[in-house]
Amino acid sequence: MWFGWSGQECDAFTGDIDLRQHDGVTTATVDLPQQDIDEYYNGYANSTLWPLFHYRLDLTEYESETGKGYERVNERLANSVAPLIEDGDLVWVHDYHLLPLGDRLRAHGIGNRIGFFLHTPWPPTRLFVSLPYHERLVRTMLAYDLIGFQTNEWLESFLHYCRKELGAEVDEETGRIVFEDRETVARAYPIGIDYEHVMAQGETGEARQAEQRFVASTRRRTAMIGVDRLDYSKGLPERIDGIGRFFDKYPDRVRDLVFVQIAPPSREDVESYQRIRTTLEQKTGQINGARSEVDLVPIRYVNKGHSLAELFGFYRAAKIGLVTPLRDGMNLVAKEYVAAQDPEDPGVLVLSRFAGAAQQLDCDGEGAVLVNPHSPDDLAHAIRTALDMPLEERRSRWQAMIATVRDDNVQRWTENFVSDMQGSEDAL
Ligand code: UDP
Repeated sequence: MWFGWSGQECDAFTGDIDLRQHDGVTTATVDLPQQDIDEYYNGYANSTLWPLFHYRLDLTEYESETGKGYERVNERLANSVAPLIEDGDLVWVHDYHLLPLGDRLRAHGIGNRIGFFLHTPWPPTRLFVSLPYHERLVRTMLAYDLIGFQTNEWLESFLHYCRKELGAEVDEETGRIVFEDRETVARAYPIGIDYEHVMAQGETGEARQAEQRFVASTRRRTAMIGVDRLDYSKGLPERIDGIGRFFDKYPDRVRDLVFVQIAPPSREDVESYQRIRTTLEQKTGQINGARSEVDLVPIRYVNKGHSLAELFGFYRAAKIGLVTPLRDGMNLVAKEYVAAQDPEDPGVLVLSRFAGAAQQLDCDGEGAVLVNPHSPDDLAHAIRTALDMPLEERRSRWQAMIATVRDDNVQRWTENFVSDMQGSEDAL
C-alpha cells in the first residue's frame, strides 16, 4: 500500500482516505488544505529543508510558522495512516517531507519495523546546525529502525551529527547509532533506475520518432543534452556559463555544437524557483543573441516536460550528456543517459563530481568525465574533451558505466533496503 498526500487541496482537513487500485498497488491518499500546502510543502519542505540539504544557506528560509505547519502535517498524516498499519507490516517512509513521521507513528503505538530513505543529500554538520531546532528534528529520526542515504558522503555527515551534536554512541563501521536506549542503523543504498523499463521505453515508436526528430534537427552538429527539473540545485545558470566559456575559448567551434536543455518547471509557487527561471532565460538569451547565425541557434531551451520514451530518444541522439548539478542526492538522468546509448557508438557523459551518481559512474576515472560545475573553465574543457573523444575511448568509458547502471538498479535497491529492514534486530 502506498500512502501520501494526493496533491489535491481541500477546504478543511478531514483525514478522509481515498483508497484506489493502480496496477496492483493500493493507494491511500489524503487531501490537504491551502494553509498546509503553503506551510508544509512550499514552506518548510521546499523553502527550508530542500535548500539546506543542498548546502544553500543563502536560499534557506527559517520561519517558525512553517516549521509548525510541517510538524502539524506530519502529525495529521500519522493519524490518517496509523489505522491502516497491521501487525507484521513493514513501513517505509520516503524523503525530507516526512522526517518526523516515524516518531509520530511510534506515538500512536506503532511498534512495527519502520525504515526511512532520504533521496536528497544530508548536509555537513556545520551547515545543518543553522536550522533552528535541528536537534529536535534528528531526535525524531532516531525513532526509525533503519535510515538509508544515497551515498557514504551523506551517511558520514549524518553519523557525524549524531555523535557530535547529540552525543549518541555511533559505530562508523556498522552505522549503528545508540541514543537514549534506542538503536537505529544508518547505511548507504544508492538508488538505481528501473533498467528493464527504461530499455523497454527505448523500443517504442515514440522513442524512435523522438530520436529521428532530434537527429534531423541537429544535422552535422554534435548535439549535447541536459534534462533537469528547473531547480537551482541542478546548476543550470552555471552550465550555461560553461557553454558560454566554451564558445569564447573556441569560437571556431560554435558551428560544431548544439545544446538542448530540457527544463520542465518545478515548484512554481516558491519564489526562489521563479528567480532561477528568469536567470536562465536571460543567460540563454544572451548567449544566443551573441552567437546565433541565421541558420544556427546554439542553445535550445525547452521549458516543458517529456515522457521517458521521448527522453530515451533524445538521450540516444545526443552525443554528449551534460549533467552538472551543484549538489544532487543521486541524479537518475545521468544513469538514464548511459542506459540509452548505442553500445557501438555511445555518447560521453559529463557529470558533476557533486552528484551522488558520480560515486558510481566515475569508475576510477574511466567512466564519466567528472567536472566541477562551479568552474566555467572546467566545464568548457570537459565539453571540448567530450566533443573530440575518439570512438574507442567512448566505448570503453561507456562499458565501465553500463554495468553499474544495469545491475545496481531500482529492484536491487529495494531488495537491499527491504531485506535489511526485515532482518532480525541482531542482524542489523
Ligand atoms: N523526467 C521526465 N521528464 C522530463 C524531465 C525529467 O520524466 O521532462 C524524469 C527523468 O527521466 C528522471 C527524473 O525525471 O527519471 C528526474 O530524476 P533525477 O534523479 O535526475 O532528479 P530529481 O528531479 O529527482 O531531482
